[in-house]
Amino acid sequence: MTDLVPSRPHGRRVVIVGAGFGGMAAARVLARQKTVDLTVVDRRNHHLFQPMLYQVATGGLAPPQVAWPIRRLLGGRSNVRVLMDEVTGVDKSAREVLIGKRRIPYDTLVIATGAAHSYFGHDEWAPFAPGLKTLEDAIAIRRRILSAFEQAEACAVADDRGRLLTIVVVGGGPTGVELAGSIAELARFALAGDFRCIDPGEARVLLIQAGPRLLEPFPEPLSWKAEADLKRLGVEVRRGAAVTACDAGGVTVGGERIPAATVLWAAGVAASPAAAWLGVAADRAGRVPTLPDLTLPDHPEIFVIGDTSVVKGADGRPFPGLAAVANQQGRHVAKTVMARLAGRGPAPFRYRDHGVLAMVGRNSAVARIGRIHLSGRLAWVIWGVLHIGLLVSLRSRFAVMSEWIWSYLTYRRGAQLIIGRD
Ligand SMILES: Cc1cc2nc3c(=O)[nH]c(=O)nc-3n(C[C@H](O)[C@H](O)[C@H](O)COP(=O)(O)OP(=O)(O)OC[C@H]3O[C@@H](n4cnc5c(N)ncnc54)[C@H](O)[C@@H]3O)c2cc1C
Repeated sequence: MTDLVPSRPHGRRVVIVGAGFGGMAAARVLARQKTVDLTVVDRRNHHLFQPMLYQVATGGLAPPQVAWPIRRLLGGRSNVRVLMDEVTGVDKSAREVLIGKRRIPYDTLVIATGAAHSYFGHDEWAPFAPGLKTLEDAIAIRRRILSAFEQAEACAVADDRGRLLTIVVVGGGPTGVELAGSIAELARFALAGDFRCIDPGEARVLLIQAGPRLLEPFPEPLSWKAEADLKRLGVEVRRGAAVTACDAGGVTVGGERIPAATVLWAAGVAASPAAAWLGVAADRAGRVPTLPDLTLPDHPEIFVIGDTSVVKGADGRPFPGLAAVANQQGRHVAKTVMARLAGRGPAPFRYRDHGVLAMVGRNSAVARIGRIHLSGRLAWVIWGVLHIGLLVSLRSRFAVMSEWIWSYLTYRRGAQLIIGRD
């Protein structure tokens, strides 16, 4: 069933699959070009700012402060069509995107479908250790954390209370560090005084890292600084030990059983199934290898960008899975599409590495900006200013800023709601 669409000029139909960082960056440029007929397909109706998702998961921000309807961001233009649907495949020879039985024709295709959680061959752990990728994940994690405190308050058995008040975060990358720090602050400060039978400040928060140090993509001194700041918040950091079992009762790490009611997964990512759609061999992380101009070999009409793809920089190393990489790649694709329509050839993608940042907690973050290494309050202020600046709407910037100021002054959080049931 080929898609029924109004008459579309041949040669100018661009279909973007995925409206995350990469897809949205390309779409926002191409939507302004009247000569392009743009279709954006995403299985969700919203574009999500993942770097602040951990704050939704720990009751600091509400979902609309970090997500915006795609239709609103791109809407109102006669050359743009937004479809909320799940892409299931690509017919390269017919140049059509498959959504079940429905087919969307393209002249240029941009695949930007991001990544999913990887449990390193232990998918059976997923129900016990949810990961953080979507708003649904964040709301479910918030529910698990807050429900554990509620159940502990009602629990008369000391051992059970101990298990309920133990939260394990698996994975010491930026997401794991940010989650662990934020959960520790939630327990020590935001929930302080809210319960009669338990002291939330006595909750155990453990961060498990299989590698030798936290924040491995960061310069080493910043890893030790982040670890020291986490420990000051009361987080127990276990390095050099991998999780070998995970179930409803807790986790096993380096032979030790840790009873825990809440286990959160921040350890691994696997790319979307785009390699299978395109019939190409993926790398070990499931990503689609592309040429330096971000196209698929022998298919200059297909771009694969962001976390779904792998492309090496001038130093021969693949670009990291960062929002900035996806964003710059999206804009590069838009420029290439426009250059081709103007009769010019492709150019290789060049990543401008402005640095990396990770939040640890109140007045504490680490940052590498160019060659400068920062930590503590200055890095924390820079993290806040940069992230506010990256939010896509003015309303969200005001909302997030006022929420942060209120939280900073009161030590409280504005979205400590348990919604839904497990
Ligand atoms: C919790 C968390 C925190 C992070 N923090 C940072 C940070 O601080 N700094 C940083 O630089 N990076 C951070 N990242 C990484 C960054 O968010 C990713 O590198 C970036 O989002 C990749 O962009 P993308 O466009 O490839 O994919 P995404 O932004 O993930 O977008 C993929 C889109 O594709 C859609 N999609 C997927 N499959 C389909 C399908 N079959 N059909 C239709 N639509 C589909 C999804 O709904 C989604 O909208 C973080 C990631 C997470 C999960």
